[in-house]
Amino acid sequence: MNVYDAGRMADVMAADGYVRTDRADAADVAVLNTCHIREKAAEKLYSDLGRLRPRSRAGGAPVIVVAGCVAQAEGAEIMRRAPWVDVVVGPQTYHRLPELVRRARAGERGLLDIDFPLESKFDRLPEEAASQGPSAFLTIQEGCDKFCSFCVVPYTRGAEYSRPVDAVKAEARRLLEGGAREITLLGQNVNAYHGAGPGGGAEWGLGRLIRALAEIPELARIRYTTSHPRDMDADLIAAHGEVPTLMPYLHLPVQSGSDRVLAAMGRRHTAGDYLGLVDRLRAARPDIALSSDFIVGHPGEDEADFEATIALVRAVGYAQAYSFKYSPRPGTPAATAEGQIDEARKADRLARLQDLLTAQQDEFNRATVGRVVPVLFDRRGRKPGQVAGRTPAMQAVHLCCEDPPSLLGEIRDVTITEAHANSLAGASIDRPPQPSPGCAHEAAENGRPN
Ligand code: SAH
Ligand code: SF4
Repeated sequence: MNVYDAGRMADVMAADGYVRTDRADAADVAVLNTCHIREKAAEKLYSDLGRLRPRSRAGGAPVIVVAGCVAQAEGAEIMRRAPWVDVVVGPQTYHRLPELVRRARAGERGLLDIDFPLESKFDRLPEEAASQGPSAFLTIQEGCDKFCSFCVVPYTRGAEYSRPVDAVKAEARRLLEGGAREITLLGQNVNAYHGAGPGGGAEWGLGRLIRALAEIPELARIRYTTSHPRDMDADLIAAHGEVPTLMPYLHLPVQSGSDRVLAAMGRRHTAGDYLGLVDRLRAARPDIALSSDFIVGHPGEDEADFEATIALVRAVGYAQAYSFKYSPRPGTPAATAEGQIDEARKADRLARLQDLLTAQQDEFNRATVGRVVPVLFDRRGRKPGQVAGRTPAMQAVHLCCEDPPSLLGEIRDVTITEAHANSLAGASIDRPPQPSPGCAHEAAENGRPN
């Protein structure tokens, strides 16, 4: 979501003549787009701000902007801790960024804009200026009304909002004209999607939206993330069996395998409900690869609860997963709940869970070796002569070839030759494997963000 938002901020700033640069020292405006989901992510802001602190206000120091969910949650506190910040703007108001920056450049200080405006920012954003390349993101839904005990999203991103079907289709067409072959539909709780139907008609769910997008011939692959188990309705599950361009991979976070902890988290489903859902998904699409998020050490989690999570992981068999130590977030109910778990215990549980998840991921990747899989090549590899892409199940694949750019945006059948911890190596079936000199596979690429 933040990658998508950063692109849209670049689009709004383009109207004032700004272009993107990766070099903070060369920038006229430095935007830190922040995440508040866990304490570690939020703290990163202050260390980055320390590095950006101008030695003096004179001499062309950049305008410093803090955007995103930390901006939303901490507001003026950011300017108190780092007085050299010029603008603080939340995720719902970044369409006003050019005006805020103009005012900052004219000498105004302490500019704070963290409203939840009534109008949708999507109605105010310009069309996307730059191509996202072969694999593109499209935000269709934002915010969340579920208020899980541990989560800041409903406070930082606000109430659930779904973009109308017409706006989604128009943006999809623009992305495809810009060279996209794959679109990932985004939302904090994307399968709660309920956008107004064509022409402002009756609301559509995500399954119906996916079926409509699948009719666009240029769109080769559709994905969506992140989903809540409660919102996997029958139509969406059926779409997994009926829409060939809907990729057989689903990130479906369960957080815990203990009914007691799930209830404390306010997830409103049991471990059994989740396993039943997995069965229905696999009945619709037998080769579907599953991924999840897990939190260990939620307040009140005991050893038996943790073992229930381990049992659920064994029962499902994941292709990949993200797992985190519970991080108390200010303002959420879990932060002040009884039964906080100490760090050492959280770390121990996380290590045990990750051992199992890593073993499952390795097994899933190893099972691909020797098979021929269609890979969408979407970027250059790190080494010369290397090109990288993804399988339908989201595995990263690296391939050595004579002319990497010629494969970008192409979907090719690839024989998988090796499996590594986080990626696969392949040889195109069009050519025998001929690694060019200097092009070796990098096992560490795309490291697990756990
Ligand atoms: N809407 C998704 C989750 C979005 S937040 C869902 O309901 O499942 C992304 C992930 O961050 C969550 O799935 C959760 O595993 C993790 N997360 C959120 N708040 C957290 C916290 N306070 N501590 C640790 N992990 C957290
Ligand atoms: Fe956060 Fe997801 Fe729960 Fe919404 S459903 S509150 S985004 S964890």
